[in-house]
Amino acid sequence: MADNQTPETKVSFKDTLNLPHTDFPIRSNAKIDDPAMVARWQSEELFSASFSHNKGKEKFILHDGPPYANGHLHLGHAYNKVLKDIVTKSQRMFGKHVPVTPGWDCHGLPIEKKVTESFPGLSHKDLKVACREYAAKWIDIQRQEFKALGVLMDWDRPYLTMGFDYEAHILKAFGKFVTDGYIERKNKTVPWCPTDQTVLATAEIEYEERKDPSVYVLFALEQKITDQMFSDLHGKSVNLLVWTTTPWTLPLNRAVLMRPSTEYVVLDVNGVYVIVGKALADKVAALLNVEKKISAEFNSDQLSKQLPKVHHPFVENLMTPILLDNSVLVEDGTACVHSAPGCGPEDYEVGVKNNLEIFSPISPDGKYTKGIEPKELEGMSVADGQIWVLKKLTERNTMLFKTSIRHPYPHCWRCKGGLIFRATKQWFCDLSRNNLKTKALEATNTISTLPEKSINRLQATLEGRLEWCLSRQRVWGVPIPSLICQKCDYTYITPELVNKVADHVAQHGIEYWDMATEQELLPENFKCPSCKGTDFKKEQDILDVWFDSGVSHFAVLYDSPDLAFPADMYLEGKDQHRGWFQSSLLTSMVIEKEPAMRMIVTHGYTVDDKGRKMSKSLGNVVTPQQVVDKLGTDGLRLWVSTIDWSNDPVISDKLTQNVQEVFRKIRNTCRFLLSNLYDFDIALDSVPLDKMHVIDRYALQKLFQVNDDILKKYQAYDFTATFHALAEYSSVDLSAFYLDIIKDRLYVEKANGLERRSAQTACWYILDTLTKLIAPILSFTAEQISDHYQKHKKQSIHLQEFAQLQDVWELLKKKSGYIDVQSQPFGRVTARNVGFGTSFDAHISRFIIEQESQWDMLRNIRGAILKAIEPLREQGVIKHSLEARVIVFFDEGMPGRDQLHNFFTELQHAGQTIEGFFEEFCIISQFVMQHNTGDHLEQSEYKGMFIKVEKAQGDKCPRCWKWGQSDDADKLCHRCAKIVRK
Ligand SMILES: [Zn+2]
Ligand SMILES: [Zn+2]
Ligand SMILES: [Zn+2]
Repeated sequence: MADNQTPETKVSFKDTLNLPHTDFPIRSNAKIDDPAMVARWQSEELFSASFSHNKGKEKFILHDGPPYANGHLHLGHAYNKVLKDIVTKSQRMFGKHVPVTPGWDCHGLPIEKKVTESFPGLSHKDLKVACREYAAKWIDIQRQEFKALGVLMDWDRPYLTMGFDYEAHILKAFGKFVTDGYIERKNKTVPWCPTDQTVLATAEIEYEERKDPSVYVLFALEQKITDQMFSDLHGKSVNLLVWTTTPWTLPLNRAVLMRPSTEYVVLDVNGVYVIVGKALADKVAALLNVEKKISAEFNSDQLSKQLPKVHHPFVENLMTPILLDNSVLVEDGTACVHSAPGCGPEDYEVGVKNNLEIFSPISPDGKYTKGIEPKELEGMSVADGQIWVLKKLTERNTMLFKTSIRHPYPHCWRCKGGLIFRATKQWFCDLSRNNLKTKALEATNTISTLPEKSINRLQATLEGRLEWCLSRQRVWGVPIPSLICQKCDYTYITPELVNKVADHVAQHGIEYWDMATEQELLPENFKCPSCKGTDFKKEQDILDVWFDSGVSHFAVLYDSPDLAFPADMYLEGKDQHRGWFQSSLLTSMVIEKEPAMRMIVTHGYTVDDKGRKMSKSLGNVVTPQQVVDKLGTDGLRLWVSTIDWSNDPVISDKLTQNVQEVFRKIRNTCRFLLSNLYDFDIALDSVPLDKMHVIDRYALQKLFQVNDDILKKYQAYDFTATFHALAEYSSVDLSAFYLDIIKDRLYVEKANGLERRSAQTACWYILDTLTKLIAPILSFTAEQISDHYQKHKKQSIHLQEFAQLQDVWELLKKKSGYIDVQSQPFGRVTARNVGFGTSFDAHISRFIIEQESQWDMLRNIRGAILKAIEPLREQGVIKHSLEARVIVFFDEGMPGRDQLHNFFTELQHAGQTIEGFFEEFCIISQFVMQHNTGDHLEQSEYKGMFIKVEKAQGDKCPRCWKWGQSDDADKLCHRCAKIVRK
């Protein structure tokens, strides 16, 4: 019988039906219900309870990577945290102890910049205090926003990288690096503003158009190599033609670069022989306004074998090497590139790679200093040096051509002046020390990754890492506890000093460094070992924030009584391969001598439906709140589950519609189940397996399989597959099949009779299992549903375990047939058997396979019968399948006929009739099985089954709408009459 219809007869039997009823609303009112649920969890102390729940059992540690405590959450944050929440909620429901400590990254430039803008001119100490307040404000806001998403973590006890204890741990970790000799202070080339006399962070650099000279300079190749390589030129001089727009850096030249394995030519430019990339010869000739005359050709590999050098264009007696480097392109210039490692960022990298001198005699205010050649440059500003160099090149006849160029050039965000690059003393972690990089690379083989191939990315970024510069010229961060000799630049740093500072920082925070005096930090009567000087100053640089968050395994996990080291999982966006994953791995290899994590899971970046990264300038930013407004919190969480690890999470209309549709389907399915269990108590009313209708047993077997399957998906962190399996189960197996079939029994049969209780028993198990399966994802909905069906509910659904079901057919067979299973409950609440790897006896496993194929056959037969009814409906002979009478004959040669007979026997054992079974199974009024002949019947879609469909005979029962013979005054069918006229 169909929903929401009342019989059309005069006498209404509506009140005699068990019509569905529940207070669980059809639609959730997310705006009101979601915040109310968070408030309830808060008052139930669920957040802290989730931390200690299952204490003593197997642990699962997901170590939360700290977001930056600045600004509202964006969708990427929400996506990441919900994923972590799905992982940890599901692991907890497997019975593990899953304490989750959330974290925040607090130090660093963005906060310092914001605070400096609002309060300029603060002392270092006051600036730190103000930054603390600023970070604390945003931590509170983000905490509320995470909670609102239903994320279950120990929110009242997070780890903050600005906590005094954490700051002290950063220093203790740094102390271990100092002890083991990883820390060194040496030159690094950095972007520098000579006006403000400061280094600039990437975020502080602005690019603006600027006009610069564009000069083509001759670097003469050493003559003996010229003679070997180009003997045809008979001793003439050959030059590398180098293009530069920063002539002032030429005195700092330390190499000329060419591209490896690339064709070069010697061009004759009016008697001057110059080497340029072959692919650029036409361009160069055109620029110089000469005819292209090629005197020789060669491959750069050929030349490099000779370890050649070139003469500097104006520094006497200076010869610099020719090096091959892939950074040289053959698209612009000459493919011969001037390299000054002390004043260019790319040059610096080439310099580090090739062991060149990081030569940078440039003062903070942008003047050449002592050590510069030629000496007459000393004390000259680099701007004047620019003109000096051009004059010198002309004088020496080493400039082939000069023009000017307009190009984007880096400028200072503060004073808008052009930047220079100069080398300054920075702190480094020596990655080659104790083979740190090699060891870390080897250790990656012990870390499992998801997606699997992301291991390559981790290894590639690690391999590509040249160095780790640990210092930043900032205030809001952990000081590098060392003292610098003001006379000779000697650096005083010892493990004792670092640990002493750490102890004070544990008491006073990093503000201690501003309060401490040099005298109290240095040993008594300390003299510089290098120059005997006594004037020392505290280092003002702070540690890279990646070091802060990178040692969280040491600060948070290592000594914790509740957590554990190493973590089972680190789960972040794939950009963290070069960020947090790497800094965590490197530091753990030094501190704990093993990787901080067993598994690294990575996900993509949130993008719009065109695959573009969300950005303010594109105007395509979607906030978590916008998604929640549209889908509800659980809708957002369900969306998270739909995205495969290897894809970028997309927000598109199509996807959100699909999510909405699945959410609605699952919710409605649960609501239907709830609405038919209002008078059912599993402890009192459940029917033992052997007494159940066979279709109910089949539903439970299906449930067992689905549960088993989805739990495996949770174990594999395959939430996309979980989403699809839940969607399919709800719509295909339940809504369109089983629940449709049993409606008649639920509504019509005697309320507390076996027929209805059998179906209700199955419904209860389905609801309980399904609610638990959706709980990690649809967290609010699952809590609400369980409020309704769990009588005397004691604890949140999130502290309960997944349903542990048993294989129905295994149970039945073990008890030899279909009897004797009376006392056997289907679901076990305590046993830890989720159906994995259960070993079957051979005959049991054969029995299960037989049952499987038997039900496949029955579903196919059902399909063929429904198909045969369809034409009558189209012709208008009947309106609903319930008005049909179906006559079938199963032919001798029908495939699976023996199985069908076995099934009939099973029905008999269960006290059911063949007709009754098929009438319910196909939702028809009359089923007739002919035994002798298929004459007058037609071959159905199912081979060997012959069929005839006609309008049902007799009267329509006003109560159940089934057709049949009736001797009742109101035309009630026999079944209904028995119930109503007791
Ligand atoms: Zn500036
Ligand atoms: Zn000194
Ligand atoms: Zn009836």
